[in-house]
Amino acid sequence: MSRVVSVRDIQEIVRNGQGLSSIPADAILTPSARDLLSELETNGDAKAAAAKHVSGSTGGDKLSPPARPLNSKSAKSELEAFFNSPYAHNLKEQICEMGRRLWQRAYVDGNGGNMAIRAGEDIAICTPTLVSKGSLKPEDMCLVDFEGNQILGAKKRTSEILMHLQIMQKQPKAVASCHCHPPYATGFAVAGILPPTCMIPEFEVFVSVALAPYRTPGTPEMGKLVADLVDKHNTILMANHGIVTWSHNSLEEAYWRAEIVEAYCRTLLVTAQLGRTPNTFTPNQLQDLLKIKQSLGYVDPRYGMKECELCDNAEWRPGVACQVEAKAETTVGLDADAEAAVKAITDQILAQLK
Ligand SMILES: [Zn+2]
Repeated sequence: MSRVVSVRDIQEIVRNGQGLSSIPADAILTPSARDLLSELETNGDAKAAAAKHVSGSTGGDKLSPPARPLNSKSAKSELEAFFNSPYAHNLKEQICEMGRRLWQRAYVDGNGGNMAIRAGEDIAICTPTLVSKGSLKPEDMCLVDFEGNQILGAKKRTSEILMHLQIMQKQPKAVASCHCHPPYATGFAVAGILPPTCMIPEFEVFVSVALAPYRTPGTPEMGKLVADLVDKHNTILMANHGIVTWSHNSLEEAYWRAEIVEAYCRTLLVTAQLGRTPNTFTPNQLQDLLKIKQSLGYVDPRYGMKECELCDNAEWRPGVACQVEAKAETTVGLDADAEAAVKAITDQILAQLK
């Protein structure tokens, strides 16, 4: 089986003075490892390029977090100083920027959607209620404790904050979370259908989806049902509501998950309309993607599964089972096929709704 090589592995090789030729020819490179490798190959100065990646990955010099992590019991003056610091301002700006992207892509409607970033042991910065995500300003942001009590901020915190806080409590790795209502992924959530797997690499690597049952938004029950799933999933479809994603790296990465799952659900519907049996990954191909995923530190319930157990999703697949041979259709009219595919999906959706 081929070895997964990450940026860290390449930096190690350079540090030890080994040549890049020591990387096995059949190694699977993570996307950032591939970037670093081509950089090394073009500029020739391997040590300098590898070192640049080290400092680049730490993310920033003067915008460092407080030396001592704050918590909800910290002195009010300390919390205020933190909330008004350049570091906290940067986090607030990140929320505003992701809000603009959510709104521009029509992933939120009205004042819908909300986001939170972990800011200490049991505190988080989050969006306010009743503000469009398209027009957020840094001064709109709120500081809350993990019970949902507002500590600072002129505007009232989002009513859905409990869910974000429950995610952060249940999943210590979560540094940020993003909730929105993108139409295609939400469509799957309304139908109660998990998107089938084994079709697009980005979806397999960056996302791991589960479905939480419906409860009234903002209630502790809703938060609990979502939080129960974040151990092995970073993207939760919330039945009859929307989606919520989390990341162990950044709010932007949590936002990317929304883009990836939305693009995937949209692509699935197009695929289904084309009336052909979709081609899917072989278990071997999927296993390679899961190795990359694991090396990036993303959660997934499929790690350690045997290849024959992968690609298994009986919930919904547009006429496919993993490893099923593509139909030997050469002359069948597209219209008839498309009609059959649409009918099959409609039947399944109706069956789910019963
Ligand atoms: Zn919502």
